[in-house]
Amino acid sequence: MSSEVFHIIDPREFDRELLDELCEITDTARAVAKTREGAAMLRSLLADKRAMLYFTQVSTRTFLSFNNACHLLGIGTSEIRDPTISSEVKGESFDDSLRTFSSYVDVIIMRTPERGLAGRAAALMNQIPRRVPIINAGSGPDQHPTQALLDIYTLERSFAGRGGIDGKTIGMMGDLRRGRTVRSLCYLMKNYHDVRLVFISPPSLEMSNDIKKHLVQHKIAFSETGVLDSVLSSLDAIYVTRVQSEWDSEGESLKADLDDFSIGPNQMPKLNPEAIIMHPLPRGPEIDPSVDSDPRAMYWRQERNGMWMRAALLIKIFGVEDQLKS
Ligand code: ASP
Repeated sequence: MSSEVFHIIDPREFDRELLDELCEITDTARAVAKTREGAAMLRSLLADKRAMLYFTQVSTRTFLSFNNACHLLGIGTSEIRDPTISSEVKGESFDDSLRTFSSYVDVIIMRTPERGLAGRAAALMNQIPRRVPIINAGSGPDQHPTQALLDIYTLERSFAGRGGIDGKTIGMMGDLRRGRTVRSLCYLMKNYHDVRLVFISPPSLEMSNDIKKHLVQHKIAFSETGVLDSVLSSLDAIYVTRVQSEWDSEGESLKADLDDFSIGPNQMPKLNPEAIIMHPLPRGPEIDPSVDSDPRAMYWRQERNGMWMRAALLIKIFGVEDQLKS
């Protein structure tokens, strides 16, 4: 986060204190919303604020959960989801468009197919008089910091009473090379003690070197395998991802034999009885729907956690967390 404005761009900027605080705010906001009075109080919390949702790349969950998080807190919303109906088609630059959004709203939440655009937007904001926070809601195949936050919350709460994330072995499976959610989650792991990561993927989709370098730098233990069965029983969590075929340049998806990187009735008996299964969704064939009814399937809860964690983030960005407690 920038010291000038509370931007959310790069997960490497989060520290443990902030992560723990966001998890606590999430719990408190959820608890408060359970009564009519509490929900009304939440709706008044940021009723003087407006948000712009600038989503020029496809989105279901991130868009809807941010939109609903805003509404839970009384934040008015406006959106652009199709840049072909904005003035960008008249040749307006991205910088000018962004400056225009900042004239009308108090926070800009943005998802784009390009890497690095949210960072550029944040840098621009730091130079103009009406600077508003930028939240990166997914920057191409690069980063998805708010997904990583909700993943941390899901892991922490699933392991409550078992020491939280510290000391756990977390498997990440599927398209690790182009999956921005696992890339962001890897960055956050430096905040936890004695975590071991196990990357499970075909060679063509293995985790990129930039992330591995980061893990080495921060002394986070990791291993890699192409054989799910060999590690299944050792995992406390398995984070499954779909193949990101939208980023194919050389038919990477077709090159990989993905049957070996899925969870279904054959894998479930081998998984630790206390382990959890996560997925950022949308899912493809990598998790069989029969797994949904198993208590270890955490992805639908993870999805719902996203709305509350994003509400917590907005509460923190606008600095009203103390009003929530009173
Ligand atoms: N919904 C997640 C994302 O936007 C995961 C995915 O699309 O596979 O990155």
